[in-house]
Amino acid sequence: MTTPLRVLVHGGGIGGLTLATALARRGHHVDVAELRERLEALGVGIIQPSNALHVMREIGVLDDCLADGFEWEVLTVCDPAGATLAAIPQPRMGDAPAANGIPRPALARVLADAAAKAGATVRFGTTIASVTDDGEGVDVTLTDGHTGRYDLVVGFDGIGSPLRRHLYGEAYAPEYTGFANWRVTLPRSPEVRGVVMSTGNLKAKALLTPISTDLMYLGSVFAEAEDFRPDPEHAHEQLRERLTGFGGPIAEALAQVTDPASVVYSRISQVTVEQPWHVGRIVLAGDAAHASTPHLAQGAAMAVEDALVLAQSLDAADGVPAALTAWEERRRPRAMWVQALSHAILKQETGTPTTAEEDELLKVGIPGAAHVLVQPY
Ligand SMILES: Cc1cc2nc3c(=O)[nH]c(=O)nc-3n(C[C@H](O)[C@H](O)[C@H](O)COP(=O)(O)OP(=O)(O)OC[C@H]3O[C@@H](n4cnc5c(N)ncnc54)[C@H](O)[C@@H]3O)c2cc1C
Repeated sequence: MTTPLRVLVHGGGIGGLTLATALARRGHHVDVAELRERLEALGVGIIQPSNALHVMREIGVLDDCLADGFEWEVLTVCDPAGATLAAIPQPRMGDAPAANGIPRPALARVLADAAAKAGATVRFGTTIASVTDDGEGVDVTLTDGHTGRYDLVVGFDGIGSPLRRHLYGEAYAPEYTGFANWRVTLPRSPEVRGVVMSTGNLKAKALLTPISTDLMYLGSVFAEAEDFRPDPEHAHEQLRERLTGFGGPIAEALAQVTDPASVVYSRISQVTVEQPWHVGRIVLAGDAAHASTPHLAQGAAMAVEDALVLAQSLDAADGVPAALTAWEERRRPRAMWVQALSHAILKQETGTPTTAEEDELLKVGIPGAAHVLVQPY
């Protein structure tokens, strides 16, 4: 399609701002409606594997991501005591770097600046108040009073997606996996120059991820009751109890965790929208359509790939409905594969019984998956 489209992106997170940038750079008119009043995303950092960095280059922000983050190449696997079991070089997608760690607020800033520079309008502190798709266009009113008629509305509004609820009610509400992630941002130890993952027979995994020259985060996954919340005054001690038995770099990092307020706790849930990801001119993307567990560090990577491929599909197709069909055909198998393997890894690492199908998937493993995911898609 060569005619500029009017597009509303609902959700200015990682996927939404990537899409806004990709579309605005192509000359489309893009509004982003983001619920949060300000940019700062919740704490901690994120891993950008090579396929995510490939997308960052396509939208012109690779150098900014690398400047604000910590580029790395080797995943080190340790036993619980801290002895190195393997040092695994990460593959590259084309000539994109192998991996980068970056603080989430820095990534949000890079993407928001890029979207604005490309000409998108990002409206903060607002959300959809009403939305009506008549087949030829979508009429939207936002809670800040803005109204518009759009050719396409994209729900990049995260795991709790209100647009998913608009399309499918509670049919695809997030499902809690029974596991939760504990994360703490710490000063980076000089020896943490790539992800250090400590796993073994403790029914838990812990890892250290460099996210800037100065910072790294300690992350770990444990089985937790759905209604469990860390005690605000003792969260650091609760984390320490759970990591009892880990030695080496994990224990050294843990010794620095003294402030309960520094502990970020996130329940791990999944979303699988089995019906089409698009209905008429409204489409769900990223976590709204296919949130997965973080075990391959690919959730945001899938979201930014969704964004780039959606922009490419709109370039190539004759009309928005055809573009959405082509987009979903390209995206669903890959996103579902990431979700299934990520969940199987969670089960394997936590000693949860796996199915025969999961055992088959697990033959690929984390190192094999990295090689699969840098192939063209
Ligand atoms: C513990 C943990 C660790 C992870 N680590 C990694 C990693 O290392 N690498 C990786 O690739 N992925 C990782 N992920 C996954 C990654 O964070 C998500 O997959 C990614 O953020 C999804 O992007 P998104 O744009 O779809 O959603 P989000 O980034 O969640 O963005 C959704 C946006 O929509 C907004 N929104 C919500 N409701 C509304 C509304 N009503 N109106 C308007 N806006 C709204 C939100 O405020 C938000 O800005 C991790 C996830 C978890 C839980």
